[in-house]
Amino acid sequence: MLVVAPHPDDEIMGAGGLIHTWAGMGRSVTVLSVTDGEAALPVRENLDLIRRDELKEALRKLSATHVSVVRLGLPDGRVADFQRKLRSAILSLIEPGMTMISPYERDGHPDHDVVGSICCEIARTQGNPLARYPIWTWHRADPAEFLEVSWGKFPLDSEARRAKTHALQCFVSRRQPDLHDPVAPHHMWNYFQRSYEAFLL
Ligand SMILES: [Zn+2]
Repeated sequence: MLVVAPHPDDEIMGAGGLIHTWAGMGRSVTVLSVTDGEAALPVRENLDLIRRDELKEALRKLSATHVSVVRLGLPDGRVADFQRKLRSAILSLIEPGMTMISPYERDGHPDHDVVGSICCEIARTQGNPLARYPIWTWHRADPAEFLEVSWGKFPLDSEARRAKTHALQCFVSRRQPDLHDPVAPHHMWNYFQRSYEAFLL
């Protein structure tokens, strides 16, 4: 399975339980980490290094084995300027029949939308199965947008929920109460601690 994530933490919020379950069955998971998320809180120095380490630790909480991460290092917020590079990175990682997990292509964040669109295009042309996870959609979207859309619900057992919660807690830089983060209000985290993960199919 290839999980494509625009920023460190998207893969955990959107698909952490799925990654844990998949790896628990002894199947390999590659996470393509597109940016290091350095623009999330511009006041913090070395945020890219911090979030990169947080991601490594979070993936270890999901699975001690079977999960590997490939960093692409594109500039946070400017993925649209590097579409060719992103496309060739994904193409170099996928194999026939490999399941792709990507952000929803109309998620409402420019990096998420471009990453999602490229994944859709590649899945279509290469014939790979694809499921897309919503992140910002939970926060901003109107349910009417989804009347015609097909969803899949992946239930998490207690072990998967626990692993996901521990993984989410690794992103300390995103959760400091003294830092007002206008981008990700704290209540957003609640969407990602439910007993299931939802994917657009
Ligand atoms: Zn993101």
